[in-house]
Amino acid sequence: MDMLEVLRTKRDGGRLSDDQILWFIEGFTAGEIADEQAAALAMAIYFQGMEADELATWTRAMIESGERLDLSGVGRPTVDKHSTGGVGDKVSLILAPLVAACGAAVPQLSGRGLGHTGGTLDKLESIPGWTATISNDRMIDQLRDVGAIIAGPTAAIAPADGKLYALRDVTATVESIPLIASSIMSKKIAEGTDALVLDVKVGSGAFLPEIDRARELAETMVRIGEDYGVKTSALLTRMDTVLGRAAGNAVEVEESLEVLDGGGPGDVIEVTVALAREMVALAGLDADPAGVLASGAARPVFDAMVAAQGGDLGAGLPSAEHRHMVVADRTGHLNRLDCRSVGIAAWRLGAGRARKEDPVSAVAGVICHKKPGEAVEAGEPVLELMTEDPARFDAATAALDGAIGIGHEPEPVPPLVVERIGS
Ligand code: URA
Repeated sequence: MDMLEVLRTKRDGGRLSDDQILWFIEGFTAGEIADEQAAALAMAIYFQGMEADELATWTRAMIESGERLDLSGVGRPTVDKHSTGGVGDKVSLILAPLVAACGAAVPQLSGRGLGHTGGTLDKLESIPGWTATISNDRMIDQLRDVGAIIAGPTAAIAPADGKLYALRDVTATVESIPLIASSIMSKKIAEGTDALVLDVKVGSGAFLPEIDRARELAETMVRIGEDYGVKTSALLTRMDTVLGRAAGNAVEVEESLEVLDGGGPGDVIEVTVALAREMVALAGLDADPAGVLASGAARPVFDAMVAAQGGDLGAGLPSAEHRHMVVADRTGHLNRLDCRSVGIAAWRLGAGRARKEDPVSAVAGVICHKKPGEAVEAGEPVLELMTEDPARFDAATAALDGAIGIGHEPEPVPPLVVERIGS
């Protein structure tokens, strides 16, 4: 097999043979193929795409590059969720214990944030003592005993993806539908879940803002899941503005606790319950997630999940020393609060990272005192910026230039759940 031939085939729009794909993924994982050749292949796939059966083989090779967990000993149906990421998207923190409280087991192997979107592990790491690193055996014990786990993926799960993602990240080849779909689905299938619900975001804060591309990604991932016998469905949900009022790490844990205690913002509850209904249905359970959430029954599951991973909620969450208010420049109705701009502001305040090895600040972030649809008076706070380094305020406020739109009349807020994909 010859890497130059593989590259020429894809560069010229051809289909890679199954043998070529298996040879490439195996060799790349073993460190036998040069990074620059793998990066060139990612760029060729970015431009030329992949046929459905070619993508199926590619995904299979990624899964087979590592181990596939066996969760059959957990004793409950397993169901996971993956979100393509957004600003203020703390849904996983509530959803995992909620669906466990409904009777399923939720094995959620999550990622860290990169760019303007936050990462679930970064949020949970703001809880003193909490660790994302857990062995496969402890993961199975926690699923059996508590019903939910959120942890970092082990190096043994789809290692080809970890290597390839690192190259894509620095070669502008992340935004390719076959590469995203195979990356996400290889990890989820290798994790061993019986069922999977995908939350594919659309709108300014989303990774793929346009609905047609988001739909194509969702359909591609659902097809891959079904091919592997994983019951899979997807919801397309809007990410035009921050979900809830908090964007950051500790502040998002705080807001999640409010929702778990039966309160919290309506939009967070709406998306969480919609996803929980999908998960419960795919798991074949007959439970009412809205009722379970309102009853507070998911909170003790969250507490147990955190404690099992060393977290001490009793020690309190850290909070920022330095704060800066962005106020309304006129009276009216907040009609626009641009999601991506708020995400970039939170990132510049320290909540996110530019490179995957960078640390994040637990206390940095943004609180939205006003959200689209709400009335506002001139001089009232719209956003509260928080950081441990006040030198960051200038860059963060610059990101917010033009992000806030205030009009005379309120404009309708579009529904959050746009479409469902799946059988
Ligand atoms: N998340 C992933 O896990 N992989 C991608 O390619 C993009 C987002």
